[in-house]
Amino acid sequence: MNTLAIDIGGTKLAAAIINSALEISQHMEIPTPANAEPQALEQALAQLVEAYQGKAQRVAVASTGIIDKGILTALNPDNLGGLNHFPLQAIVEKYTGLPCVVLNDAQAAAWAEYCHLSAQFKHVTFITVSTGVGGGIVINGELLIGPHAFAGHIGHIQADPNGPRCGCGRVGCVEAIASGRAIAAGATQELEGKNAREIFAQALSGNLQAQQRVARSAQAICQLIANIKALLDTECIVLGGSVGLAKGYRQQVEHQLAQLPQAFQVPVYSAHYQHDAGLMGAALWSEHLVI
Ligand code: ADP
Repeated sequence: MNTLAIDIGGTKLAAAIINSALEISQHMEIPTPANAEPQALEQALAQLVEAYQGKAQRVAVASTGIIDKGILTALNPDNLGGLNHFPLQAIVEKYTGLPCVVLNDAQAAAWAEYCHLSAQFKHVTFITVSTGVGGGIVINGELLIGPHAFAGHIGHIQADPNGPRCGCGRVGCVEAIASGRAIAAGATQELEGKNAREIFAQALSGNLQAQQRVARSAQAICQLIANIKALLDTECIVLGGSVGLAKGYRQQVEHQLAQLPQAFQVPVYSAHYQHDAGLMGAALWSEHLVI
């Protein structure tokens, strides 16, 4: 059985074929349309799946946003063009003619990482630091989705009541401080207009402002981890997303966490499936649901 796995992020749409042995092949990426219209995402998805016609027997989609009963609603319109009530599952089924399962990207990644760690841990929390900040929670071996599919949207926990306004409408969310978009948004002078990847490169070559922006992000993620530990007593944290996986970032988070009292300490790992955690999680979830 081959699964066409698709990962919809705020920066890129990724797709790949995942077979029963969990081998990933035919990886493809296109930019997420900058245009806010639902038609733009529909066209991009149609373009993406075109290349995979006849190569899979089912489709599994991991997407940023709230994914409830097959419908996508962007919680932070900055990340996905203000999509509201986008019929994601129906659209993917229309263009592929295959059965399709859809879930939130960080929930999917949490499931993949839990499956990898399940011999060791039953309580795993995944945090993606990417265009936004997302999360997925596995408690006692079960993925927490919630009655409105909202569980794990930990990027919208408040980090600083005096912080910047978040695209979701609240103030000072972790996402508004720690995400790739936030790292880039507040940059000034020589860093103005640079994206998070460029700011990380500047930080590594000694630019003080870049180092401070990265450190502020890592500090917000560290405090988020401590809050999660207090709330769930999670056994480990798995970090993913291009910012979460960037060179030296996890070590900064661990260093900050080590300063906190013992009860808040928890091991922090980098995602085993790296940038493919969402794709792999969606495929594993479709297998779990036996579609
Ligand atoms: P998505 O949000 O679409 O899932 P990513 O996980 O790749 O995609 O996150 C995109 C964010 O990560 C952007 O803000 C981008 O600038 C930043 N980014 C990409 N590559 C790197 C890198 N090597 N180091 C730090 N940040 C990166």
